[in-house]
Amino acid sequence: MKHPLAQERIVVENDEPPPLAPQPQIVPFPGHENGEYAENVQNQLSQTPVKQFRKQFYPEIDNHTWNDWKWQFANRIHTYPEIGKYISLSADEAAVLQEGDGGEQGSQQLHLPFSVTPYYLSLADPDNFEDPIRRTVIPTSRELISSAGEQQDPLGEHDDSPVPGIVHRYPDRVLFLVTSSCAAYCRYCTRSRFAGGHTGSMRFHWETGLEYIREHKEIRDVIVSGGDPLTLTDDLIDYLLGRLFAVPHVEMVLADKSSASFFLRG
Ligand code: SF4
Repeated sequence: MKHPLAQERIVVENDEPPPLAPQPQIVPFPGHENGEYAENVQNQLSQTPVKQFRKQFYPEIDNHTWNDWKWQFANRIHTYPEIGKYISLSADEAAVLQEGDGGEQGSQQLHLPFSVTPYYLSLADPDNFEDPIRRTVIPTSRELISSAGEQQDPLGEHDDSPVPGIVHRYPDRVLFLVTSSCAAYCRYCTRSRFAGGHTGSMRFHWETGLEYIREHKEIRDVIVSGGDPLTLTDDLIDYLLGRLFAVPHVEMVLADKSSASFFLRG
């Protein structure tokens, strides 16, 4: 026999079904009542800084080319005279870039590598020296100040590096640093001690790293990083993955694609 309270609850539920959820009312934005919404959005998009930048500096580049990461990578801006054509530089930015003008690697004296894709530069305010996008990629002399407690290797990777290019901090996982090249060089990079310091793939220590992974059977997981490993050529990526997957105890290979935000289309 059911408890009297249960009986009573069933009766209440049958008599009073739950109310229906209120139906949402679609209210058009003022000025868009006649379906001009898409057209207005399109017009606004055509006025974005990216579109204006493209119109001014790359009028001949079609959407397909602009959205091709290989084109963006090949057309990176990385010298003082080049950058000055796109944005106005503060006296400090100009001095640092001029002094450091050694191409992508920057000067040996300053070691402030500099590079930025056209897309990412198009997001920066050309006249605002404190624009946050600008501050992520264009060096200033403040980078040369070393404060108390500041370290060249803030993640302490060097201390966990048994051979060049390998960081072995956790028993079954290693970080394999295979390139120092990136699409743009972030001013906040925790690997600025070597990012941009070499062109190419840092191929010279790959074999040592692969040998280390082969010898350490506890390693299941390899994170391929740098720099941005996906800026390597297809042949080099193919070679590297082939060697890693040929190691019987390696179960996972992850690629750290740090430069994705520099290639997003606009
Ligand atoms: S993309 Fe990553 S590795 Fe390259 S400079 Fe920026 S933070 Fe450093």
